[in-house]
Amino acid sequence: MPISEADFPERFGQEAFPSLPCPSCSKGRISLVKGKFWTLEAGYSVKLKEEDAWEPDWRTERFTAFMQCAESACGESVVASGIVDAEEELDEEYGWVYASVLKPQDFYPAPRLIPIPENCPEEVQECLKTAFRLFWSDLASCVNKIRISMEALLDHLKVPRRRKTASGKIENLTLHQRIVAYAAKDAEISQSLMAIKMVGNLGSHDEGPISRDIVFNVLNLYEDALEAIFDHRKKELKRVKAALIKSKGKSAGKKKK
Ligand SMILES: [Zn+2]
Repeated sequence: MPISEADFPERFGQEAFPSLPCPSCSKGRISLVKGKFWTLEAGYSVKLKEEDAWEPDWRTERFTAFMQCAESACGESVVASGIVDAEEELDEEYGWVYASVLKPQDFYPAPRLIPIPENCPEEVQECLKTAFRLFWSDLASCVNKIRISMEALLDHLKVPRRRKTASGKIENLTLHQRIVAYAAKDAEISQSLMAIKMVGNLGSHDEGPISRDIVFNVLNLYEDALEAIFDHRKKELKRVKAALIKSKGKSAGKKKK
């Protein structure tokens, strides 16, 4: 299932603290530990209440909380922190009222946004884990870290970082050039990686700030690409399927129904 805002909400009420994929195990989910939630209002914010024009949305408050993985074999503990905002919402009884809304800025360790295959190289895994953490505080840096993980992925796929020009000079290849070069080995994966890079570019240069939806698109495409590269069972099924189609169901020892 592709990930979206519903899986990783940007803001939520304390009562609706989401359960999120565990950073450490593949099956578990982390959720808020009862009684492990605190807030603190800034001193200057408390003083502002003396002003006549004071409104609840002038308040500056932070939260911190502990979450834990429900899998008994794991039990990973995660610290979450962020901003408590006052937002107007429509109450059936009282009309427009201010409600406290939490906006997380950090989780440590950060929940997995997409699964990382176990046989994925260490450097790619570490870049992705950092990207998952940056997602909550800085989307542009998150996408940049994903780009760096793609460079590490291309290293693993043995795509050179440099080339010798006709004049004998050594020049560095851009991520774009490396992805294009990989098409000679696997056009489908090269195309997936190019799509990730292009979607990621939407948030840079003059295209305006990067949105959470852009990051979700990048990660959904990346999940597919990683699966195509590292999921050997899927690779094998794809090979068997291609062989069956080619031989009209006679090869691979199985008959098509
Ligand atoms: Zn876990």
